[in-house]
Amino acid sequence: MTIPPGDDRANANTNVSDKTVYKLADKPWFAPTAPFIRSPLHTNDVAVIGGGIAGTSCCHALNQQGIGTTLFERHARLANEASGNPIGMLEPYITADNSLAGRFYEAGFRHSSALVREKLNGGAAIEAAFCGVLSLPATPRDDTRQHAILEKQSATAPDDNNAVGVQYLSVADASDVLGMPVPVGGLFYRDAGWVNPPSVCNVLAEKSVRQTRQKITQIMSHPTGGVQLRGHDGAVLGDFAAVIIAGAMETAAFAQTSWMQDYLVALRGQISCFSKDILDDLKVNCVLSHKGYLTPERNGQHVFGATFDRHASHTDVFDSDHAANIAQLGLALPELAQRLSPAHLTGRAGLRTTTPDHLPLIGPAPDYQAYLEAYPDLDKGRHYARYCRAPYHKNMYVCTGFGARGMIGAPLAAELIASHITGQSHPLANPVQEAVHPARYIVRAIKRGLIAPREITP
Ligand SMILES: Cc1cc2nc3c(=O)[nH]c(=O)nc-3n(C[C@H](O)[C@H](O)[C@H](O)COP(=O)(O)OP(=O)(O)OC[C@H]3O[C@@H](n4cnc5c(N)ncnc54)[C@H](O)[C@@H]3O)c2cc1C
Repeated sequence: MTIPPGDDRANANTNVSDKTVYKLADKPWFAPTAPFIRSPLHTNDVAVIGGGIAGTSCCHALNQQGIGTTLFERHARLANEASGNPIGMLEPYITADNSLAGRFYEAGFRHSSALVREKLNGGAAIEAAFCGVLSLPATPRDDTRQHAILEKQSATAPDDNNAVGVQYLSVADASDVLGMPVPVGGLFYRDAGWVNPPSVCNVLAEKSVRQTRQKITQIMSHPTGGVQLRGHDGAVLGDFAAVIIAGAMETAAFAQTSWMQDYLVALRGQISCFSKDILDDLKVNCVLSHKGYLTPERNGQHVFGATFDRHASHTDVFDSDHAANIAQLGLALPELAQRLSPAHLTGRAGLRTTTPDHLPLIGPAPDYQAYLEAYPDLDKGRHYARYCRAPYHKNMYVCTGFGARGMIGAPLAAELIASHITGQSHPLANPVQEAVHPARYIVRAIKRGLIAPREITP
């Protein structure tokens, strides 16, 4: 809906479920949703679809606010897909230019590390080690980038809680810290390390009602304002006040979210693992991050990898990918790589859910068709026009697209979704929040004239 400038309705601030209109300057297409209202009409609070790090983080964030969750996972156990690797790095992602992706993931790293430490201190059964991450440049461009990051971090006051602990190590110091010779110096993130993602997922979901072996096939609006879910056997699985879809690539498998298929891209990855017994003189003191990574021993195994393959959507383990991982390891640690062969290795493959702008999709689920109808002329540059508030699927949220950084992105994302649902203040600055908003792709496509008018239904 477009209304003329000067219309006082633009200043109204009523419940978002009505036809309230806002100034374009307020970016109504990213407007917040109405807060969660607990109602006796709904037998349950919030349903969460997907038992990986995204879904379990959402359960945890809501449970912390006193909101009950029911977690639906199609496999027999949680963390059985991308979040099922034995080790995931907790490595900060910092960009020298303060990009939105850098701001999101830097804050996400701090949040994930604090959460894991808090759980460990509380005695939770999380496997993790804050042994530090040694990040070595693989190219001259990486080297320049590392120096710029260092400069940026040094400009932060030492007592600033937002500072990520990092220092530059010479070749000799880096070799000492890792426990074997490395070819170049690089950055050492002393507060970083690794986690076992399934243990994190299980702890984050411990207060949630779990329904495993339950594939959700349909989400229906309920006349009471909530949502109902249908399982794979056709049964309706209860009334919920809201639903969060955290199903990685499958987030786009529902009628309301199918438009997201154009913006979610699967990126296959395989890790390789070897037993410490085959190289019993090896000592890896911290995580090594280069073009790939190598982790310290966990349960007698070292993990390294990983491959990136855009053209495969299966999760079989291949010797050719083990060979690629060995070759990649050889760029940083040639002597170690020479001692490994695919015959020594076991592995695991998974799909990373990525997006074209490398940022996740976190927030209310936009009603695609209604967006096209509400904002048909954004491409005309009418800056002062006024538009109606964002048309979302009521009480439906999405949380996906973490690519290779789910462990440092999903827990913070869950806080953002919880703040949407509870109406409390958001944990992210507006520009970052808008950068991860699921509707950004629809808005961009309209502005760039990429969505043809014929797609707009009358
Ligand atoms: C090889 C590899 C190495 C990686 N290394 C790291 C790393 O070191 N550090 C890091 O931070 N990240 C790493 N990642 C990325 C990280 O694993 C992912 O970003 C993260 O696991 C994504 O979590 P998710 O919950 O979105 O997806 P998933 O873990 O895939 O979870 C989605 C869940 O939803 C369930 N589901 C989907 N549809 C339905 C449905 N209809 N009904 C019920 N259940 C459903 C699925 O069964 C699945 O369990 C790596 C990824 C790969 C592949």
